[in-house]
Amino acid sequence: MTNETATDAISVLTADHESISHLFSKYEELLASGADVAARKALALLICRALAAHATAEEELLYPAARDALEDDATLDGAQNDHDSMRMLMRQIEALDAADGRFDAMVTMLERVVAEHVQQEEGNLFPRLEYTSLDLDGLGQRIVARRSEVELQLKRDAPSRRTLETTRETGDG
Ligand SMILES: [Zn+2]
Repeated sequence: MTNETATDAISVLTADHESISHLFSKYEELLASGADVAARKALALLICRALAAHATAEEELLYPAARDALEDDATLDGAQNDHDSMRMLMRQIEALDAADGRFDAMVTMLERVVAEHVQQEEGNLFPRLEYTSLDLDGLGQRIVARRSEVELQLKRDAPSRRTLETTRETGDG
């Protein structure tokens, strides 16, 4: 019996789902309280970043392993399709001004696609992976590492306020 935080792939990804769902609830609270556009945009971008890191780790590490282990292309193709829908919505959310009338509807749509994704994975894909010979602990560790890497990169690439752009070119080739 251990009290360590579980780091197997399924626990890691399920925890991701929970924290992302929690962010969406926060967004709903912001909406209900009539929060200003800056606050809504900031939270929406945070959601997009967490979701992109999660989806990238799944696409690069979990899905290929699951495809081999389960030999069920239909399930994995469906999972990839959900990610494609998410990414399309995320691009629109990132590009739109939160003052735009469509902004909140986009976030709500994204929330629905994510809920569908969570249901598919936690109700179908993840339980089936428990019965394969996949090294879920090893996979979980790689997922955690990759996710942080992507998150960091997205943070760096995030559109910064123009006035704060003080990037210095250091050394030339
Ligand atoms: Zn997922």
